[in-house]
Amino acid sequence: MTRKLQVPLVTAEVDGQRVQVPEASTLLEAIRAAGKDVPTLCYHPVLEPIGACRICVVEVEGSRTLVPACIRRVEAGMRVRTDTPRVQLSRRMVVELLQGSVDTSLAPDVRRYAAEYGARPERWEPFAQEGPRAKHAPKVDNDLYVRDLDRCILCYRCVRACGEEVQNSFAIAVAGRGLAARIDPGFDLPLPDSACVFCGNCVAVCPTEALVPKTQFEMRRAGTWEEGRQQVVTTICPYCGVGCKLNLHVQDNRIVKVTAPLEDPITRGFLCVKGRFGWTYVHAGTAADPGGGAEPSTPPGNL
Ligand code: SF4
Ligand code: SF4
Repeated sequence: MTRKLQVPLVTAEVDGQRVQVPEASTLLEAIRAAGKDVPTLCYHPVLEPIGACRICVVEVEGSRTLVPACIRRVEAGMRVRTDTPRVQLSRRMVVELLQGSVDTSLAPDVRRYAAEYGARPERWEPFAQEGPRAKHAPKVDNDLYVRDLDRCILCYRCVRACGEEVQNSFAIAVAGRGLAARIDPGFDLPLPDSACVFCGNCVAVCPTEALVPKTQFEMRRAGTWEEGRQQVVTTICPYCGVGCKLNLHVQDNRIVKVTAPLEDPITRGFLCVKGRFGWTYVHAGTAADPGGGAEPSTPPGNL
């Protein structure tokens, strides 16, 4: 006779509502199980939560400080408040400090939370000791993706995706401290000289376009990137036998980007360099690409 393994349940209260979740669930999972939500930025459904951005904070009865919902485990009898004035003030400050230090104009979640919490980043200007982070030109050192680090909110999603949770390349990390902190492949090297294998998995999880496919970057610059006009077509990657599911983003009958659906159990949204970037041959010699689909010419660097 087989016995089913039963995970013990924990009962807590979210905004006055009783909720039961499996032991070791996070507060965020309990909040969502109660049909509510809190804002998140560094959280990504496929990566281990790290509680870096602090926008998901909630009040827990008996706790002196606000508690990050994405990493705190539920305990029996916990009483959680997700939207008190104290919580709102804290979230507003997180957004204001982000907007005061980097360009969040292409970060839809930050912009949405800014509107929701009435962020006014300009109110911090008189207190700025060092001024905003130094401005850097976008780093365009390969044919596949661009690093526009003045948009980086240091959520660490890319570092986690490149490391042991997904890619195991360990090509990038956070270098520097304070306002000088930045995502870097080491010694400010160009990506083709680093351990990067150009899988683009860091790009896939970046919420701000600080890491962005080169096609998207160039089309934005030219004013031709129009997400509203793009169709997403799901297909299977033509390269190897794994058969990863691809989402082709198509604009004007031309593939402009490739992603993978998060809910696919095979890829969980992650791909290799061929699946993510090796699609320009589709347009070779067609009216959509009279140049012959030549770019990107060769895989860069160490491939
Ligand atoms: S493209 Fe892949 S290997 Fe290169 S930095 Fe990003 S996640 Fe790491
Ligand atoms: S580059 Fe993007 S994913 Fe990486 S830390 Fe910055 S904002 Fe987050």
